[in-house]
Amino acid sequence: MIRLKILVSLILWHGALYAQKINTVLLKNATIIDGDAAVKPRIGSLLIENGIIKSVSFGQLKKVSPGAKVIDCTGKFISPGLMDSHVHLATADLSNVEKARLSTDSILVNLLKHGITTVRDMAGNAPYLAYYKSAIENDKVLGPDIYYAAQFAGPGYFKMMGNGRKGEKDLGNSAWYRAISQKSDVKQAITDAKKAGVTGIKIYADLSKELIREITEEAHRQGLLAWAHAAIFPSKPMDVAIAGVNSMSHANDLVFQQIKGDTISIGAAWAQVYKGLRLDSAVRDQLLLEMKKHNTFLDPTVFHAENNKMVNAVLITSRAHQLGIKIVTGTDWIYPTKDEPVPLLDEMKLLTSKCGMTNLEVIQAATLNGAEVTGLKDRGAIRVGKRADLLILDSNPEQNLEALFKPHTVFQKGKMVFQRK
Ligand SMILES: [Zn+2]
Repeated sequence: MIRLKILVSLILWHGALYAQKINTVLLKNATIIDGDAAVKPRIGSLLIENGIIKSVSFGQLKKVSPGAKVIDCTGKFISPGLMDSHVHLATADLSNVEKARLSTDSILVNLLKHGITTVRDMAGNAPYLAYYKSAIENDKVLGPDIYYAAQFAGPGYFKMMGNGRKGEKDLGNSAWYRAISQKSDVKQAITDAKKAGVTGIKIYADLSKELIREITEEAHRQGLLAWAHAAIFPSKPMDVAIAGVNSMSHANDLVFQQIKGDTISIGAAWAQVYKGLRLDSAVRDQLLLEMKKHNTFLDPTVFHAENNKMVNAVLITSRAHQLGIKIVTGTDWIYPTKDEPVPLLDEMKLLTSKCGMTNLEVIQAATLNGAEVTGLKDRGAIRVGKRADLLILDSNPEQNLEALFKPHTVFQKGKMVFQRK
């Protein structure tokens, strides 16, 4: 009898496992937006099996796999989940972690509701981010997948910050906010950052060109990415490009290449910009071509720039796009805790209205390029073998980007994590 019981429960257990194994969803007859702007959207069906896109077939679907949950998407559109490549989820007051988490929890849900399934966090408190990264990956908290950076800057920068980060005990001496000087052990600093769970090093401010290069090379050696600001005073943007970093943030700051001298001072440089420093297109192009040579992504943060009246961001981003530099969509902006519009839409709209990109190109920036700049090969496009992080949309985002931000359904790792009623 006992043996029979065991046998029965084994069968049941096996059955449950099997049911989990054939967790298949068929999204039938939608217009599929690939993620790569070069691929023309067309009508087709997607089979998702255990979180992964198992097949993509175009035209009318003839055979349906048995056991699949079928969702008729006739008249609807499917795009990859969106990505904000420049957020800061862990720079607010963290002195009361429980309180901080209440707000972060709602921001994360709101991101997901607006179709954002992955974010690149460009520096913040690593333990706080590590908690969320793991909780989201293990389905304990709802939110986009998080990949984050450790911020490296000169000691002068952290001194200037003083107590400007509430809840940080030892600013400049932690693995995620790390002061680097000529005397620092860069190799050890990067090993420490890696232990704190980062994907990249944010090369931020107050660093010589030699240190920028050393940090970049060591990060790459240890399998991490190097994500830099476009201008790292006293170094010039060209020093950053030559170092071969993976991305440069804030297009506006490329203009600082024009300031005379081998090194530049932050105060004097900004003073010239405020006086109306005119963009020199030859200097700009030289710099952009150097970025292109290294396959460096541009994270222009145009919305951020336009809000601060930095007109060069648009001019530089437009040209970067013309020259074939890959653009990503980062906002460096605050996300609402409530169901309110999100800044990623503003960024994407500006890229089309002012920077000469088509809607499909901007979608690529917010999907495939975002995945690439973060070193993620498993997402960013609707292709066989990729994770099923995708959005079902009621209207065509190729005509209106706003369609992306009101998804009917959001899938993350093949799981329906949000459905609009
Ligand atoms: Zn930032």
